[in-house]
Amino acid sequence: MSGFFGDLSPSQEAVLREFKEEFGAVDDHTALRFLRARQFDLKHAAALYKKYVTYRKESGIDKILRSEVPKADLFKKFVPHAYHGFDKEGRPIYYEKTGAIDYGTAFQYLDDDDFMRHHLYQMELQVERCKEGSQRVGHVVDNFCSVIDLTGLSMGHRLALKLIRAYAGHDQDYYPERLGKLYIINAPWVFPTFWKMCKIWLDANTIKKIHVLGKNYKKELLKFIPAESLPEEYGGTCKCPGGCVHVADVSNLKNGGALDDELKAPEAHERTVAARDTHEVKLSCGPEGGRFDWVFKVQHERDINFSVEILAGALDWSLSTSSLEDLNDEAAHTAHKEKAKDHKRYITEPERVHSGKGSYVAAGATTILLKWDNGYSYFTSKAMRILTRVSATAENEEEKLPGLARIASSNKAGDHNALMEAAVIDSDNTATTAASGHTPREAALHAPAAISAVATAQPVN
Ligand SMILES: [Zn+2]
Repeated sequence: MSGFFGDLSPSQEAVLREFKEEFGAVDDHTALRFLRARQFDLKHAAALYKKYVTYRKESGIDKILRSEVPKADLFKKFVPHAYHGFDKEGRPIYYEKTGAIDYGTAFQYLDDDDFMRHHLYQMELQVERCKEGSQRVGHVVDNFCSVIDLTGLSMGHRLALKLIRAYAGHDQDYYPERLGKLYIINAPWVFPTFWKMCKIWLDANTIKKIHVLGKNYKKELLKFIPAESLPEEYGGTCKCPGGCVHVADVSNLKNGGALDDELKAPEAHERTVAARDTHEVKLSCGPEGGRFDWVFKVQHERDINFSVEILAGALDWSLSTSSLEDLNDEAAHTAHKEKAKDHKRYITEPERVHSGKGSYVAAGATTILLKWDNGYSYFTSKAMRILTRVSATAENEEEKLPGLARIASSNKAGDHNALMEAAVIDSDNTATTAASGHTPREAALHAPAAISAVATAQPVN
């Protein structure tokens, strides 16, 4: 007797009854999966089921299909896969081109937890697809079919062994008897080496369901999979647009990802924001106004909480303070100053992104704060490349000077002719002046003015 529904020996029937007495709500098919996984040993099957119920409750796994899995786009790029059709027994089929995965690059973007989260999503989706499979064949289908294409498998794929081990342990505990059939196709010469290692982590019952097919796999697959569910490249008739199992080009993600040309500029700088840390850059322009530009990219498409806010704007700060100064009302002046300090206006609201590009045109003296907040990350530091610039706006074009980060401005209202460098103060509290057409002597003369113009900048640690 197989231990499947409708094919039970009297003693298996008796164990099933006992199992259901203990866990009232459980259906026959689920109960039998847990019982088969423990050879109808009631005590062990019950322990496995209890562990499973607790796990589902604690991990919030019931919600995984309703929420977006983080880094889903990246996962799709690195792991060519498809949920594609049903086999002749109604099992939902999952295809994966495992041999085409560049694990070396993938692990720069996705960690073990990311992979596990996607694996959970895949398992839950397949459980869900079983419902459609059941309808197709008119009886309950509760296990899946996988087709794993190993074309391209090399010793480099040994990086994936830790994942296979984690998946195997996890699935045997929490998805017992969910694997119906697994076909391995296009296994190259290195495969036996891998298979020897993987076998250690799989129970005998699981190994029985894995079929390593030789070169004639097409004919063999067609015995179990209807032609319309099988991609043409594997011997079927399906020709999904873009390929049934699409392989994305990940070459531009190698070495941390391609940089936009602007970020290759010598003025751009590298900055690593440690876990739980923040990086800030303040940019200022004088009463003539100016244009602020920023562009950045975090390596490996990791995200960071980025925002741009106006710390002091010309309209409600410089102009009104000068009129208040005229009144010589010290108390009112201070009150206004405090108010202006508190006045925050986001140009870009805080948002978790892995790159950003923007600009802001200010009509008068303005200071903006660019903030990269990695405070939510407990372990991962984020390496970025950043380029910021302050330049003259069209209205004062005649005063515009060549080069980056140049602006005609003054550190004090009324001192219109004092040209200076726009200064950048970053979290090391170091003022840096950008490259300009000034002679070194001129630059030296202007630098102190630039620093005083942004003297409100606070060091950040
Ligand atoms: Zn297709």
